[in-house]
Amino acid sequence: MQTRIKTKAEIAAMRESGRQTAMVLNVLVQSVKPGMSTADLDAIAVTELEKLGGKPAFLGYQGFPATLCVSVNDEVVHGIPSPERIIQEGDIVSMDYGVVWQGMVTDAARSVVAGKPKQKRHAELVERTRQSMEAGIMAVHDRVRTGDIGSSVQAVLDKFKYGIVRDLVGHGVGHELHEDPNIPNYGRANTGPWLDAGMTIAIEPMATLGTDRVYVADDGWTILTQDGSWAAHFENTVLITADGAEVLTEL
Ligand code: MG
Repeated sequence: MQTRIKTKAEIAAMRESGRQTAMVLNVLVQSVKPGMSTADLDAIAVTELEKLGGKPAFLGYQGFPATLCVSVNDEVVHGIPSPERIIQEGDIVSMDYGVVWQGMVTDAARSVVAGKPKQKRHAELVERTRQSMEAGIMAVHDRVRTGDIGSSVQAVLDKFKYGIVRDLVGHGVGHELHEDPNIPNYGRANTGPWLDAGMTIAIEPMATLGTDRVYVADDGWTILTQDGSWAAHFENTVLITADGAEVLTEL
């Protein structure tokens, strides 16, 4: 479905949904430690959301079996939490998470290095991927085109010659987790569909230290880089306003 201009009540629900998404992700970011399993992180997400009252957006979405996506190192997105997957010192841990509140969905993601980075470039990849998301958000305003956002994200990532994953993209969000249009993390300004104030979108760059090519693991979910290079992923849900964007998934 095409993303719609949200009503005042829908925006209020999305603000609360976004607040809960941000609160859970903040706890998760603080919790990531070498030695814990990716299932431990999922359990934290479950416990934290129970305190807040929302429903997890990912659990059961097209059959996804957990509340949190946890993707480590060369896993880009959609990793399934597992008690057998133990986080090692220096791993890049990407966590993608969403909440439903009064029928409205928000979607966000954070990457973090567990403990001390193995290589400086791992920490840089994480920070610069976050910066590329910020650049995408800065490009947003009433009547922005998807290419304006994508080219702003791409400009940051190209500077560092990172791979920009093309098979997965940002999107409209709100009534459903994924609404049209797609919002690629590359492209040219002044191209693509127009977006209006009152719409809500997820901007979510996925960058790698190597290729832009990815494949789906045998589990049917986990997306990995084809060349094994490590990846980072950041995402925020934002409300488009007359002259900018209101970030809904940060406190
Ligand atoms: Mg998303």
